[in-house]
Amino acid sequence: MSKKVFVKSYGCQMNVLDAERMVDTLVPKGYVATGRAEDADLILLNTCHIREKATEKTFHELGRLRALKQERPDLKIGVTGCVAQAEGAEIMRRMPLVDLVVGPQSYFRLPELVDQAELGLRPVDTEFPAEDKFDRLPKRHAAPGPAAFVTIQEGCDKFCAFCVVPYTRGNEVSRLASKVRAEVEDLVERGVREVTLLGQNVNAYRDGAGVTLAALIRDLARVDGLKRIRYTTSHPNDMDDDLIAAHGDVEKLMPQLHLPVQSGSDRVLKAMNRKHTRADYLAVIARLRAARPDLVFSSDFIAGFPGETDRDFAQTLELIDAVGFGAAFSFKYSARPGTPAAEREVLPDAVADERLQVLQAKIAHHQYATQASMIGREVNVLIERTGRSAGQMTGKSDHLYPVAVSGPDIAIGDLLKVRITASHANSLSGEIIG
Ligand code: SF4
Repeated sequence: MSKKVFVKSYGCQMNVLDAERMVDTLVPKGYVATGRAEDADLILLNTCHIREKATEKTFHELGRLRALKQERPDLKIGVTGCVAQAEGAEIMRRMPLVDLVVGPQSYFRLPELVDQAELGLRPVDTEFPAEDKFDRLPKRHAAPGPAAFVTIQEGCDKFCAFCVVPYTRGNEVSRLASKVRAEVEDLVERGVREVTLLGQNVNAYRDGAGVTLAALIRDLARVDGLKRIRYTTSHPNDMDDDLIAAHGDVEKLMPQLHLPVQSGSDRVLKAMNRKHTRADYLAVIARLRAARPDLVFSSDFIAGFPGETDRDFAQTLELIDAVGFGAAFSFKYSARPGTPAAEREVLPDAVADERLQVLQAKIAHHQYATQASMIGREVNVLIERTGRSAGQMTGKSDHLYPVAVSGPDIAIGDLLKVRITASHANSLSGEIIG
């Protein structure tokens, strides 16, 4: 009889991918994934420290599992992810129902830790092991869809004043390009047509043999059957000349780039320790647009960072107008324990709330305008799933917008030429022309 594991995942795409890899790690132990906590023999809460009040929310979630654990004392509960990394000992102290804690650096050790948990040892593994963690990634068991994520880099050396990643994921580490290529070839053989190369600071990628992200992208572009390449998330300072050039000359590199800026004010950027100015950011955008004029940019913004004035905030709005982002994520500042900014005085809630609303309206304005500019254009759409209505299928355009199309004989994995006919709140629709 196989055992069942339920992973509840929060946060970024890397966490979602980590959740899949955790299940893969446990398959040789006889585990299969389940979508229901009630059916599980092992529940893993895959936490995210980027979430507001992440630690309290983790304790709250654990409290909700108490009844299940009382009903079934054999049930094992683990906490993984960035909150586990940061608060492992505290979780064990406050929550006797937790059987194991493991940080993102040590997922390859999960089977061993589950064994220890079954013996009642309550292991905590939040070390940063010296060995190459990428070598320990298990083979993917689940059938991939047409678009897959591939981890190529982890950690960050930038130490932005608001961010926990350098503390929870450690220094930048890059996976060997030859191993990335082998995984991509395997995925393509299994039907994948698009890969997104993932890393917390992915454009700082440089493997042990000195291969850069641009060189890796050029190499992957030669894989037969692979149609599209994307990468995320990047820092403006790591957009080197070759990577910018790759946007112009690698056809398979898609014309969409997520390039976080966080603020449009030099004063705030300095307080955030972003290590770039507004002018630096705009210069990188201009160079990328020169290389690939139809690039659509997305970004991240924080509203109400400690010390942000009305003038600083106005400069952020001006920067959004100057770039014309096609999409963006925006958050109200909230302190992450252990980060330098957490020591600073926060703005009144009402001020930060109001700025977030203004920010989101500004972002939405540009998103709608960019989407509307697609109407009448021919784009390529990689079909990923069935749509909401009968006969409808949806996929992603080159610019990463969801696009719905209808028609007979459309299959998941088809790469279709589509003329965009309408723009909706967060998606497009179109008609197939080839
Ligand atoms: S570059 Fe990104 S991951 Fe690194 S510290 Fe700054 S916000 Fe965090």
